[in-house]
Amino acid sequence: MSLTAESHRVPLSDGNSIPLLGLGTYADPQKTPKGTCLESVKIAIDTGYRHIDGAFVYYNEHEVGQAIREKIAEGKIKREDIFYCGKLWNTCHPPELVRPTLEKTLKILQLDYVDLYIIELPMAFKPGDAIYPRDENGKFIYHETNLCATWEVECHPYFTQPKLLEFCRQHDIVIVGYSPLGTSRDETWVNVSSPPLLEDPVLNAIGKKYSKTAAQVALRFSIQRGVVVIPKSFNPQRIRENFQIFDFSLTEKEMKEIEALNKNVRYVELLMWRDHPEYPFNDEY
Ligand code: NDP
Repeated sequence: MSLTAESHRVPLSDGNSIPLLGLGTYADPQKTPKGTCLESVKIAIDTGYRHIDGAFVYYNEHEVGQAIREKIAEGKIKREDIFYCGKLWNTCHPPELVRPTLEKTLKILQLDYVDLYIIELPMAFKPGDAIYPRDENGKFIYHETNLCATWEVECHPYFTQPKLLEFCRQHDIVIVGYSPLGTSRDETWVNVSSPPLLEDPVLNAIGKKYSKTAAQVALRFSIQRGVVVIPKSFNPQRIRENFQIFDFSLTEKEMKEIEALNKNVRYVELLMWRDHPEYPFNDEY
């Protein structure tokens, strides 16, 4: 597969295609100034990103939509150049809520369609206005769901998912790996006792050889395995850095060395919901 800045899409069985590198857009809304996401998505589009990963629950989807629309209005891109992934939140799993929730997302984005709409997490919460519904004792209120458990898969050099990747290859399924740089290490939802991925000596040593950073090596490793990555950055320099991964390639030996780093470290454990009957991470994939 040829991987270039202009052409790094993987074909999907429905005739569409998904760019192997996308921009993640989750950042703590309390700590992120308004407009940061808007500017970051615009910089990303100018840099060459054509895949943006967002969600209603990130509280910045209106900024993502505005950035895409502004770039279309400028003539920089056409809508069909962009692959946008939106997400159905846990309180909207009942089948009758799916369509209105997607329509709400389209209204927020002010776009006519999304390219992918996924179930954000396979654990349903009680439908209603509260995004994180809790009872009078502060306990999360869950909800029964019979939706197929479909979700994205964390994937990076410390969590290489060889079995799942092989299964998906056999069945022609493309994996989108979230947290490809090892997350922002926000202790409210990340297991921060696990080692920071980007400090890994092997990733840094390989990076030195190519004058690349550990982040660029981690991203290149994933796309060379055919795994779509959606690194989040709202920093202009790092948005550009994460896109500079098409001008070098890792040798087979280096790919093996990085594969051997696997520690089965799952950064996003969501332990606060581990008592949910559909909690997904007790199973082996
Ligand atoms: P990432 O692995 O993408 O890491 C993001 C963190 O790394 C940020 O703190 C960012 O800071 C920093 N960073 C970015 N680029 C570099 C670089 N080149 N060098 C050093 N640090 C860097 O973590 P996420 O957990 O955010 O995952 C990516 C995206 O995946 C999310 O934003 C979201 O869109 C999606 N996601 C989906 C989930 C789901 O359940 N469906 C779960 C988790 C994530 P800065 O912005 O300052 O550069």
